[in-house]
Amino acid sequence: MSQPIKTAFTITPKADRISAAEREELLKAPGFGRVFSEHMAVVTYTEGKGWHTPEILPRQPLQLDPAASVLHYAQEIFEGMKAYRSPTGEPLLFRPDANARRFRRSAERMAMAQVPEELFLDAVKQLVKIDADWIPAPEVGTLYIRPFMIATEVALGVKPSAEYKFIVIACAAGDYFSKDAGPVTVWVEENTVRASRGGTGEAKCGGNYAASLTAQQEAKENGCHQVLFLDASERKWIEEMGGMNIVAALDDGSLLTPPLKGTILHGITRDSLLTLARSQGLTVREEPYAIDQLYADIASGRLRELFACGTAAVVTPIGTLKTSKGEHVISKETGAVTASLRQALCDMQFGRTHDTQGWVHTVG
Ligand SMILES: *Cc1c(COP(=O)(O)O)cnc(C)c1O
Repeated sequence: MSQPIKTAFTITPKADRISAAEREELLKAPGFGRVFSEHMAVVTYTEGKGWHTPEILPRQPLQLDPAASVLHYAQEIFEGMKAYRSPTGEPLLFRPDANARRFRRSAERMAMAQVPEELFLDAVKQLVKIDADWIPAPEVGTLYIRPFMIATEVALGVKPSAEYKFIVIACAAGDYFSKDAGPVTVWVEENTVRASRGGTGEAKCGGNYAASLTAQQEAKENGCHQVLFLDASERKWIEEMGGMNIVAALDDGSLLTPPLKGTILHGITRDSLLTLARSQGLTVREEPYAIDQLYADIASGRLRELFACGTAAVVTPIGTLKTSKGEHVISKETGAVTASLRQALCDMQFGRTHDTQGWVHTVG
């Protein structure tokens, strides 16, 4: 799918662009979140005036007044998406309209100005166009795109800001977890929670991540890569990871994942995988799943595979769950259902298979 860019961005290309040789060196093993592209999109919102001054600029530090409200009351939201290099070298986006929609919903929850979906898409596409050379080769990785919005009004009174900046930056990304590492070990967090009913769990806001970091630290101290959070009221039901959704594959061939009821982020990877699974004839159930039942299902063999999913790491097999009381081992190897869903999704994202869903967009 291709829709032309409609917003008139003022484009100021970087004067002293990095050489192709240097860029290629950086793109060989970019890791995650360290090798940034050379430009950024910036759009400003002022109450009474709306969104204005759409610009593409050389990537540079922001100037913020120390009383800018984002620094005090955390009115901040973000998105995570990727540009993929197709077999013919063309930049592709995967369901960018879903990111635009979710960004609007996150803004609504945080009482921020809403970025019109077309403006969101145009900003992303303009940045990907000017920095297309920063998309790594498909066998290496992708260009990770980070749209975000901050409250910039200079005001210490607690109220929704009257000014915002919507910014898009990008970085080259190799595989989030190293390719051949196999299944990860996950810490089941029994004390702190990520989100509660009525809170901001459904919004993609930085504050949710800040709240998850002590658990992440605890996980690391216990030799785990990631955290699985339980529900806030009973500590009984599985919810999601710090930045990924979770799905179980059962011995009857079905998939089981917790329903989206206000505390779990609406993952686009989750939705895409469930849609692909259903189209392959798999039964998909979105039902509450108690952690004790999950442990029992591991023990009985009813639970065959468990995986986490999100844009950054795509599909990550979970081999072991760990708590203060002990371990529950699922498998030391990536399961067949996990591997085949990952493959089907990646083939679509990288433009290697026919896009049956209208999910793949060119940048115009
Ligand atoms: C971004 C995010 C996800 C994954 O969403 P995708 O759209 O699949 O990238 C899952 N959980 C949380 C908390 C997130 O912030």
